[in-house]
Amino acid sequence: MCILYMADPADAEKWRDSLSTLTAELEFRQWPDIGNPAEVHYILAWEPLTNLAEQFSNLRIIYAAGAGVDQFDLASLPGHVSLIRLVDSSMADIMAEYVLFGVIALHRDILAYQEDQRSGRWHPKPIVRASQRRVGVMGVGNLGRAALDRLQPLGFQLSGWNRSLKDVPGGSCYVGRDQLDEFLGQCDILVNMLPLTPDTDGILNAARLACLPRGAGLINVGRGAHVIERDLLEALDEGRLGGAVLDVLVQEPPSQDSPVWKHPRILLTPHVASDVQISGAVAVIVENLAREKERKPLVNVVDRLKGY
Ligand code: NDP
Repeated sequence: MCILYMADPADAEKWRDSLSTLTAELEFRQWPDIGNPAEVHYILAWEPLTNLAEQFSNLRIIYAAGAGVDQFDLASLPGHVSLIRLVDSSMADIMAEYVLFGVIALHRDILAYQEDQRSGRWHPKPIVRASQRRVGVMGVGNLGRAALDRLQPLGFQLSGWNRSLKDVPGGSCYVGRDQLDEFLGQCDILVNMLPLTPDTDGILNAARLACLPRGAGLINVGRGAHVIERDLLEALDEGRLGGAVLDVLVQEPPSQDSPVWKHPRILLTPHVASDVQISGAVAVIVENLAREKERKPLVNVVDRLKGY
C-alpha cells in the first residue's frame, strides 16, 4: 500500500518523515517515481493528473495538498475515488490569527495612518470601541468558525453568513442569498472565508460591495475570484470602502503594473493567511487509514455536488 506524493518537491522530505513517524503501513513514493501503479492507493497532490483511473487502478483517495479544492476538476475525478481536504485545527488557528490581524488593522484605521505617515500628516481619528464595530464572516465553516471564536473575546459585534444555519458566537447567522444583502448592510468589516465554487465565484461584485456601509473594510482570505477586483478598486478609489486586506488575488502574484501593489488603502500579503500543516494533515491521513479498516465514514471528504 503506498501514497504517491505529487505536491511541492521542496516539502517531500517533511511529508515522508511525518508519515513514517505516525504510520509504518504506508510506503511513500514521490512523483515521478511511481513504481508499480497498481500499488498506489493514495495520492497527495495540489492538482492531480488527468486519466487517474486508467493509470492507478487501485486508487482510493486523493488528498488535496491545499485547503481549497477549487483547483481540482471535480467532474473528472473517478466516482469511486474520494477527494479529501487536509484541514485541521492548527490550520484554522493560523488563519484565525491572520483574520484577527486584519480586523484590528481595519478597526484601528491602520491603513489610513500608514498613508498619513508616508505623507507626513499627524491626523488622529476618533477611536471606535470594538463593541461598536460590526464584523461579519462569510462562510462559517471550519476556518470561519475558528476566526469568530478568536474575535469574540475582543468584544466585536459578530455575525456570519452561510449556506446553512450555523452557530455564531455572540451573534447571528444570516442564511442564503435571500439574506446576503441584509448581512452585508450591517458589516463594518467583512471577512470572506468562503470556498470558491460556481456559486460563490465573483460573489463580491459592485452591487454587493455597494450593500456594505460607507467606509467599510474588506478582508479576503477565501480566493481572489470571490471579489471582482476592478469593482473593489473603484469602491476604494471613490471612498465607499475604507480599506481592504487581501491575501488572495485572481492573479498571484499580480502583474507589476497592477494597482494593488501600491494602493494606499490595500494591505497585501502573498497568500499566506494559512496553509496545510503537515503534522495535522498527516494525522488526517492516519485517521482515515484506521477508518477505512473499520469501514467507518472518512473525515474531511469533499462533497462533489457542493464543490467543497
Ligand atoms: P469549509 O468547507 O469548512 O467551510 C465552508 C463554509 O462556507 C461552510 O460553512 C459552507 O456552508 C459555506 N458555504 C459554501 N458555499 C456557500 C454558499 N454558496 N453560500 C453560503 N455559504 C456557503 O471550508 P474551510 O472553512 O476549511 O475553508 C474555506 C476556504 O478558505 C477554502 O475553501 C479556501 O479557499 C480558503 N482558504 C484560504 C487560505 C489562505 O491562505 N488564504 C488557507 C486555507 C483556506 P455549509 O456549512 O452550509 O455547507
